Parts: sequence; structure tokens; C-alpha cells
Amino acid sequence: MGVIRTFIAIRLPGEIERALGRLAAGIRPAWPERGVRWVKAENIHLTLRFLGATEEERVGGIGEGLAAVAGEHEAFELALAGSGCFPNGRRPRVIWTGVADDAGRLVALQSDIEGLVRELGWEAETRDYRPHLTLGRVRQGVKPPQGYWCGDPPAMTFAVGAVELIESALQPGGAEYRTRYTAPLRGRGV
Ligand code: ATP
Ligand code: MG
Repeated sequence: MGVIRTFIAIRLPGEIERALGRLAAGIRPAWPERGVRWVKAENIHLTLRFLGATEEERVGGIGEGLAAVAGEHEAFELALAGSGCFPNGRRPRVIWTGVADDAGRLVALQSDIEGLVRELGWEAETRDYRPHLTLGRVRQGVKPPQGYWCGDPPAMTFAVGAVELIESALQPGGAEYRTRYTAPLRGRGV
């Protein structure tokens, strides 16, 4: 068995993906044409933990661990909130939209997933978790445009009912994602 590239994420309902796709399309003309790789609407997601190189035979064990963690968290709601650039607006690399997690449910879930992947042998993530939905990746050296380049998302909320282990196949046209395991949160759909 081989080694694949994986990450753990929350996928978005289609209407949220489409709303974010429209948001990205609205700010796209402000940026240099080839200066940003825009994420296809159906690929926009909320990463919880990037795992990177993962031996195929470990997928089942990660899935079982995710099922156990997810089963300890109730399904919850998030709201789209704000937009910005990492690391900052002067030297943008990632154009993102944020989520409001006022009750701390997302951070609690992410922290338990971090604990799980540490138990499974991954190195600790040293950077703080900053939840975001990546809309585009800015090529090195591209300057931010003048004026309105990072629009606010519409006021929309969505239910988080599961976390997914996703395989990412890097292709010239952008990463292709394939869900390898879906772990439902408690009370989903109730
Ligand atoms: P591409 O690399 O072709 O732009 P992508 O970034 O969507 O596509 P991956 O690089 O496989 O695909 O990343 C999958 C997810 O993990 C994305 O949300 C990405 O932002 C995140 N990610 C990738 N590398 C890291 C990392 N080193 N630390 C934290 N998150 C990461
Ligand atoms: Mg990447």
C-alpha cells in the first residue's frame, strides 16, 4: 500500500459553497488575472487538521479515532463572518472567509482532533488554529489591489454534522479531494 496526502475537514452544504463561489467571483476582478489560484466552489472547506503524508493502511484507524471523537460532540451551527488575508493585507498569500464560533464548539472539536492525531503519532501542530475557508491562494510576490478586494460574506449559517478524512491528490489543475471516511457528530439531523 502506498502513501497518500490527507487532511481532516468539515465540508460545506452546497448553498454555502455556491455563496462563497459568488463572493470569490465578485472580488476576482480586483486581483491580477493570474495572481490568484481561486478555489473551485465545490472544493471550499473548513480544515481542522492537515495530516499530509499518510500510509494507506492507517486510514481505517484514523477513521475509527475520528468516529470516537465526533461521537463526543453534538452537531452545531456556524455562521459565515468576515474575510481577510493571511498573513496580512500587505503581503497576502491566502484570501479567506471566516466563521463565527461564539460558543467555542468548533475550537473544542478541533482541539480533540488535535489530541487524536497526536495519539496516532503525528507531530504537534505548533501554529494556533485559525479557522478559515480558503477562497484563493495568492501567488508569491503579487501585491494586493487597491480598494475593495476582500468582500464580506452574506449572513448565512450552516449545520456542522460530520467531520471527514479527505484524501488530496495534487494535480496541475488544483487538488482533487476524495472523502475516505465520514464521522458523524452526535445528534446529527435531530
Ligand atoms: P493546492 O495545494 O493545490 O493549492 P490545497 O491546498 O487545497 O490545494 P492541500 O495542499 O492538499 O490542497 O491541502 C489540503 C488542505 O489542508 C487545505 O485546506 C490546505 O489549506 C490545508 N493545508 C495544506 N498544507 C497545510 C499545512 N502545512 N498546514 C496546515 N494546513 C495545511
Ligand atoms: Mg496546498
